[in-house]
Amino acid sequence: MKKTRRSFLKGLSAGVICLSLGQLGFDLKEAQAFAGAIKIEGAKEVISVCPFCSVCCQVIAYVRDGALVSTEGDPDFPVSEGALCAKGAALFSMYSSHHRLQKPLYRAPYSDRWEEKDWDWTLNQIARKVKNARDKNIILKDEKGRTVNRLENIFMMGTSHASNEECAVIHQAMRGLGVVHMDHQARV
Ligand code: SF4
Repeated sequence: MKKTRRSFLKGLSAGVICLSLGQLGFDLKEAQAFAGAIKIEGAKEVISVCPFCSVCCQVIAYVRDGALVSTEGDPDFPVSEGALCAKGAALFSMYSSHHRLQKPLYRAPYSDRWEEKDWDWTLNQIARKVKNARDKNIILKDEKGRTVNRLENIFMMGTSHASNEECAVIHQAMRGLGVVHMDHQARV
């Protein structure tokens, strides 16, 4: 079996911890039982990328029953060797934090309050406004008659709170509409 840096570190750290505690006279049975029930037990490891900046440190996402249960740096990734900065170390909270919005919020023009809306209403509104803006301003040909299909009245600003994969899909959708002005906040 191929020995990776990750499996080597796992074995090494478990061995060091058990040796140290055992030498100090602790009964390890309880700790070993607890270790067997840790949150990543039985979880599938999926390699992904920290979305917070362009260093793109590789992370291991632990998934059980279709839900993300933990994230950590990937020791096999040669650039960062498993290390994550404070943002990357807090990656799991991007998925699990109760501070994240759970529902779309809408503030009507000239209103001073936010209203909760459901996703159907929100997506219909966005689709309608994008369609209207595109129909009104799409540039099909340039001054020399060449096909360009440019849309210059919509600007796309990406967020580091979208995953790498979500950003790829959003980018393709914007290009499909003809949007040419795009940027992303997750840059070093
Ligand atoms: S935010 Fe930190 S952990 Fe994430 S890719 Fe950038 S340097 Fe790596």
